[in-house]
Amino acid sequence: MAYAVISDIHANLHALNAVLRDIEKRNVDEIFFTGDIVGYGPRPDVCIDIIKKNCKILIAGNHDWAVIGYTDIEYFNEHAAQAVVWTQNVISNEHIKDLENFSLIKSSKENNAFFVHSTPKEPEKWSYIYSLDVAEVNFRFFKQQLCFVGHSHRPVILEKNAAGEIKINEGHATINSDSRYIINSGSVGQPRDGNSRSAYSIVRDDFIEIVRVEYDIKKTQQEMAQVGLPDRLIERLSYGM
Ligand code: ZN
Repeated sequence: MAYAVISDIHANLHALNAVLRDIEKRNVDEIFFTGDIVGYGPRPDVCIDIIKKNCKILIAGNHDWAVIGYTDIEYFNEHAAQAVVWTQNVISNEHIKDLENFSLIKSSKENNAFFVHSTPKEPEKWSYIYSLDVAEVNFRFFKQQLCFVGHSHRPVILEKNAAGEIKINEGHATINSDSRYIINSGSVGQPRDGNSRSAYSIVRDDFIEIVRVEYDIKKTQQEMAQVGLPDRLIERLSYGM
């Protein structure tokens, strides 16, 4: 049994296609999505169609909720807010309805896994798991062995062992039967860990891996420029920040 988790695609079609091609080569059974299909990027409609077709679970992120008016863009920075308004103006009504149907949280019994965009503790508040103390609290808010999150665009695998200690695994980890995990799969469409390649996670038997994939960044940047998305959002893709 193997599955992939993708997150924070942000309407970056070329990144999404590159990641799905990579996943296809690895022979996985299922793909799960942990939020933010839109926002920042230039191709919202087609990206929604693709994940509807390919992903078993569709989770809502803060940008998805902002586009449909469930989350106030007052809390977004200037450029993120501009991209939300741009998305609202171009997205089809059918896709608005799709975003309304995305879930805040979901679980998969067969994979013993929980899925949320921000935190298991307060999914609708869009806070971040930015420290081990915050992670410690959040481990109490799901009962499954694995919890997949997105939101920060920085991949990491947090492991809490039977003694209650939390350790940070970068890149990969063996799943120990008496440990529990919070896994941030990173971002497909706008990585922010100083690595411009798309990120996603894959679980095969008892092994979790963060995979990085090259994509045609220039193509996405050209599309963003053509539709007038902010320069800052275009430039940051080159640096993965
Ligand atoms: Zn995001």
